[in-house]
Amino acid sequence: MGKWDALSSPVYHSATWRRVRKVALARDGGLCVRGCGRAARDVDHIVPLQDGGAPFDLSNLQSLCRPCHNRKGQETQSQEWRRAPTRIWLIVGPPGADLLGKVRELLVNPASDLVIDSDLCARAIFEGVCWSAELGREDALEAQMVRNRLIGDLRRGVVPRLATRCYLTSTNPQAARFLPYHEVVEVDPGLPAILLDVETGRLPAIFRELALRYYQAKVDADEGAAKRNRAELHLAADLEETA
Ligand SMILES: [Zn+2]
Repeated sequence: MGKWDALSSPVYHSATWRRVRKVALARDGGLCVRGCGRAARDVDHIVPLQDGGAPFDLSNLQSLCRPCHNRKGQETQSQEWRRAPTRIWLIVGPPGADLLGKVRELLVNPASDLVIDSDLCARAIFEGVCWSAELGREDALEAQMVRNRLIGDLRRGVVPRLATRCYLTSTNPQAARFLPYHEVVEVDPGLPAILLDVETGRLPAIFRELALRYYQAKVDADEGAAKRNRAELHLAADLEETA
């Protein structure tokens, strides 16, 4: 995957494609089939052409809006890291938790293991800066862009020096849903511990707000997952009743 430029396929330049594309859009009511409510602009091959998917078979076609189509592209592209020799540890915890301390514990070879961390990216760009919260908005964005580029490389299985281990830190409680990893390590000092660090001045005041946001997002995510599980159970029960 990757070298194959899907849009250059003769399929998309054929009269058959234009016809079948219209039929698929009409069948799906002109709406994105992922249920986002947006109008569909693209007709997508469910099994991609480069993986042997049928080009003109309606059962292999789905209407998608541009954002959902892009997301599907990212999901497909992101699988390369699975075949790469680099093993990825995803270290997740609230802002103010010592994620880099956990990385130092896990690090096997400091000279060659890869560490992708927002604060480290910021420090590499702006020497002497310790906390990304102390950075101006644009500086923080620049550090974030460097981090995102590194994660993009990691997804594609491209890792500098062919590091055999990578430690990726995130302060997003839902990181495991969208970042690549082989193992997740959660660092959870608990909200009271972080608030105490703020009160005693060991952390800048902004970490109070950041930590509160993290723990609230974690609660929301857990409730969302529970709701999805309940919906699936209902669906399974309905199917059993009708069977
Ligand atoms: Zn959509």
